Amino acid sequence: MKTKSIQQILPPPPPHMVGDGFRVHNFFPSGYEIDMARMSPFFLLDYNSKVDFPGTDTPRGVSVHPHRGFETVTIAYHGKVAHHDSAGNSGVIGEGEVQWMTAASGILHKEYHEKEYAKKGGPFQMVQLWVNLPAKNKMSKPKYQGITNDQMGKYYLPDNGGYVDVIAGELNGIKGPAFTFTPIQMYNVRINKGATLTMNLPETFNTGLLMIEGKIKVNSLEDAPADHFVLFKNDGETVTIEALEDSIVLVLSGEPIHEPIAPYGPFVMNTREELIQAYEDFNSGKFGALED
Ligand code: MN
Repeated sequence: MKTKSIQQILPPPPPHMVGDGFRVHNFFPSGYEIDMARMSPFFLLDYNSKVDFPGTDTPRGVSVHPHRGFETVTIAYHGKVAHHDSAGNSGVIGEGEVQWMTAASGILHKEYHEKEYAKKGGPFQMVQLWVNLPAKNKMSKPKYQGITNDQMGKYYLPDNGGYVDVIAGELNGIKGPAFTFTPIQMYNVRINKGATLTMNLPETFNTGLLMIEGKIKVNSLEDAPADHFVLFKNDGETVTIEALEDSIVLVLSGEPIHEPIAPYGPFVMNTREELIQAYEDFNSGKFGALED
């Protein structure tokens, strides 16, 4: 089998605040001159690299806002986030957990640091992805999946080399619990120094690695340090990583959605008309109600 070549190793772009609770590096679509469909179905990657928030009685976060046409997937590494939405779903995710929220036809939600974490403060590290939906699912019913760590598939590397949390898709026959609308492989690889892992990811799938912690050598060629994103060409099926330090690597690989993308603010649709409709529906209260 052929190796996927490395297209680029991207350092974290300068961070900006989302609300007052998330200090994020946007790798795509705006962080770099990369086509917005390049990582489809992943439309947006906001990475809150590890930062210390001081304790407060007023949890930081993002107040009520709408989404339509896609899913928000939040992956927690440090700290805790609480979610509430107008579909009546809510949940708290902490270290090692994932919140997979399908906005689809439209929700209002708010995202805040969980109260007890906010009070104490301390290290905070998260990823938020926007996963696009195909046209036929954009107006599906909203859905919420709170995925705890023990629900994830566990693939153990030989010789105590670490393990992989399989969030979506599968790795060597180990399946992840997330329901996805299009084929997606998503893993947290927790690999110990000196260990090696080869992953099989279809050639046509758009593929990248986000270095959460540590340092790895990719395809025996290039080093990727913490907080960097490795983008692969769609020219092979395997990716091999060797841990130069104990590392955590978020693996993203998905079958591209070959449809036009019309994004604006909190909406990701296929056409300009659908964006105008989204604003009309939002302004006329069709996204439901949620208290701040
Ligand atoms: Mn949101």
